[in-house]
Amino acid sequence: MKITHHLDDATLVAYAAGTLGEAHRVVVAAHAAMCGDCRTAIRAAERVGGMLLEDQDASAVSDTCRAATLASLDGVTRAVPRRGKPSGELPLPLASVLGERGLPGVKWKTKAPGIAKADISLSPGARTHLQLLRIAPGKALPDHGHGGGELTLVLKGSYSDHTGRYGAGDVADLDEDIEHAPRVDSDVECICLVATEAPTRFKSIWARLAQPFVGI
Ligand SMILES: [Zn+2]
Repeated sequence: MKITHHLDDATLVAYAAGTLGEAHRVVVAAHAAMCGDCRTAIRAAERVGGMLLEDQDASAVSDTCRAATLASLDGVTRAVPRRGKPSGELPLPLASVLGERGLPGVKWKTKAPGIAKADISLSPGARTHLQLLRIAPGKALPDHGHGGGELTLVLKGSYSDHTGRYGAGDVADLDEDIEHAPRVDSDVECICLVATEAPTRFKSIWARLAQPFVGI
């Protein structure tokens, strides 16, 4: 698998520090399961985080706080995604949230001709959203912006927009000020895993999908 689009440094550091929301953690782990470069970067970020804590002035951080933080870093280290070994076609971190039936068990909801989505359940109280998006060949999403920190991982097929071409394993880690209009350019449907933080802006995409210009 040739991966050309990777996670931003800021996202890798946030993952290593344990500050990402649940949906984003799943997308990062799923990409890292397929990408040796990002696995290496996550481990490096964890080491830097650990060293910074060790260097802290003792008066600035109480022993209890430091011990707790180091302990939580240990937890993160254990959470470093392992390499590949996909379950079926899926990276393990995604397979584990989809449950036993995997992709065939996903309940798709058609949003517009050739465009469907499925919500993936996370922990109760999760403040981020994880969804699968399935788009038929040749279809495009309306031009849209991104609520803070949207991550999109391509699982199958490919799409293009003005930022490049995204195939299986590629991740779009777009700044929130980027507007784009992705169009599926593969012969097969494109399936993406999407983590979002801001449901209102994401909902607006779905509202706009109902407009007649979709799929031209
Ligand atoms: Zn990567």
